[in-house]
Amino acid sequence: MTDTELYRQLLGLAAPWQVSHIELNITQQQVRVHVTYDFYQAPLLCPECGQAGPYYDLREERTWRHLDSCQFQTFLGAHLPRIQCPTHGVKTIAAPWCEPHSRFTLAFECFAIAVLSATGVQAKAARLLRLSPTQVQVLPKAQTVHDRFPIAQYLADAVDKTRRDENRADENRALAKAGASPLVKSKWLRSPEKLTDKQRALFTALQSHALETSKVWSFKEAFRDFFCAGSVEAGSVEAGSVEAGSVEEGEAFFGNWSEQALALGNKHLTKVAQRLQDHLPGLLAYLCHRTSNAVAEGLNGQIQLIKARARGFRQFAQFRIAILFFLGKLDMNPHKTR
Ligand SMILES: [Zn+2]
Repeated sequence: MTDTELYRQLLGLAAPWQVSHIELNITQQQVRVHVTYDFYQAPLLCPECGQAGPYYDLREERTWRHLDSCQFQTFLGAHLPRIQCPTHGVKTIAAPWCEPHSRFTLAFECFAIAVLSATGVQAKAARLLRLSPTQVQVLPKAQTVHDRFPIAQYLADAVDKTRRDENRADENRALAKAGASPLVKSKWLRSPEKLTDKQRALFTALQSHALETSKVWSFKEAFRDFFCAGSVEAGSVEAGSVEAGSVEEGEAFFGNWSEQALALGNKHLTKVAQRLQDHLPGLLAYLCHRTSNAVAEGLNGQIQLIKARARGFRQFAQFRIAILFFLGKLDMNPHKTR
């Protein structure tokens, strides 16, 4: 295996992203991995609308801090290409390994947050991660982490708007007059476990009418499973691959969900699906952070144990090596399950 292929696999990069070359700086103990986009393998996609468009130019090289390779600090460097979108103008394409504007890869951010939660002390975390205290401070805040609420709200709005559209249709008005009252707002927006028996019976009857509202509603309900991707119990986990696992599961779930949601052809649901697609990195980061917190609780116990054993360590550097050695799994690349 060549060094470029090794790093391509370690970073979990897929075509059209490629590792062009590796720079090793022994004196500074640093590895620099240069990544390029192969235009012949895939068209450039606009980050706003996902449409393919013509190449515009390459931006100046940017650098992201990644997980260490052995004891070497590892950086990823790339000139991200820009696209000329007919609708949105010149845009830099999205890189799959980071959030927009972040100076760290997603894998590094997950690891850093786990270390931060486990040590509880920013200065210590900074030394373990070989970051400046300022860099550590911006870490968790730097990411847009999406919680359930706004997403549930978008989806509930789509259900409600569809309901209003359908309410205007004549045949449904007739249905409502007949006493079935199918389109009462609250029933559609309520969670099924909160419905009374009577409401549930009515609800089941309504679903058989094949109303568009009930289809949109079922997509809203199905999306809850996104937040269960890669769920873990604190303290019962193998620390290494969990973050990547949840992100991959989440990504796969979202792919299926949005494909089916778009296939329904409901304009309100389509809008939400596209909006969520735009925020997918943030959504996946949410899964990653949530999991990191669970991992961190288990990790903290292990660090305390090493600390107890490490009373003899004079220097923090040795303590750091001990942690990285005993919890070495964390230092491996989280894409290994791919
Ligand atoms: Zn565009």
